[in-house]
Amino acid sequence: KTETDFEFIGKPEVLPLYIPRLKFSHKGNYGHAVIVGGSYGKIGAVNLAARACLKVGSGLVTTFIPECGYIPLQTSEPEIMVLTDEEEDFISKIELPSNASAIGVGVGMGTHEQTVAAFSSFLNDTKMPMVIDADGLNILAENKRLLNKMPQQAVLTPHPKELERLIGKWEDDFDKLKKAKAFSKKYDCILVLKGAHTITIYDGKGYINSNGNPGMATAGSGDVLTGIITGLIAQNYPPLYAAIFGVYLHGLSGDISSSENGYEAVTASTIIANIGKAFM
Ligand code: AMP
Ligand code: MG
Repeated sequence: KTETDFEFIGKPEVLPLYIPRLKFSHKGNYGHAVIVGGSYGKIGAVNLAARACLKVGSGLVTTFIPECGYIPLQTSEPEIMVLTDEEEDFISKIELPSNASAIGVGVGMGTHEQTVAAFSSFLNDTKMPMVIDADGLNILAENKRLLNKMPQQAVLTPHPKELERLIGKWEDDFDKLKKAKAFSKKYDCILVLKGAHTITIYDGKGYINSNGNPGMATAGSGDVLTGIITGLIAQNYPPLYAAIFGVYLHGLSGDISSSENGYEAVTASTIIANIGKAFM
């Protein structure tokens, strides 16, 4: 039974998921991705995620960040639009552009009590397709009643520590996967268990990614993945496919980065820089 519950994801499995770009199209066909997060000293996480959204082809990308990030982000990233909270150093509400098509929330966001309140009332009000990462996951773990408010098929991207906060300690890998499957079923969410071989869990199945390398164990690497998956969902990739395809694309971008300069020199920015080659 366990054998059929898992699928190994390589190039032949992801190619059919790709949605080709149409010649007679315009940016309105490719969605509006929104990255919500950032706090004093961690605006870079939003920058990385938003740049990754652009690199996977989102038509428009907006960030919602605290005021302190406005000048740096607008100065360094001309393609990215910026909405700001009135708070200087953290976000105290969440406002989206009216035509937003997907949101990635949590990167660098912090867990200030006003941020927790903002995220919780946002979950009450929205059904927007959503990727939740980092402090978004930490807030969910600290306030488990919020898990029931997540939109259908939200994509959650925990690293092992974040996963433990969400599902509790596990005994061994088998137990971890069992708990992850139960969690995904209970909350109808797609769980992306990040690691050397990232496993995406949904509907009782696990999709084991085949690429990536230890160079990707570096600051901001996960923020890039959040942006990639958000940017794909914004373009109408179904959330499960966006997760499987996005994890593969992220791993391949990391592999191209390390093949050029070695594991040590892989950074979140070199992963972003190679998304184009990975797509090709
Ligand atoms: P985060 O901890 O949120 O920055 O996420 C780290 C990202 O890098 C995830 O997408 C992981 O799958 C990836 N990653 C971390 N370590 C490795 C590794 N040893 N091999 C391959 N990918 C890795
Ligand atoms: Mg992370």
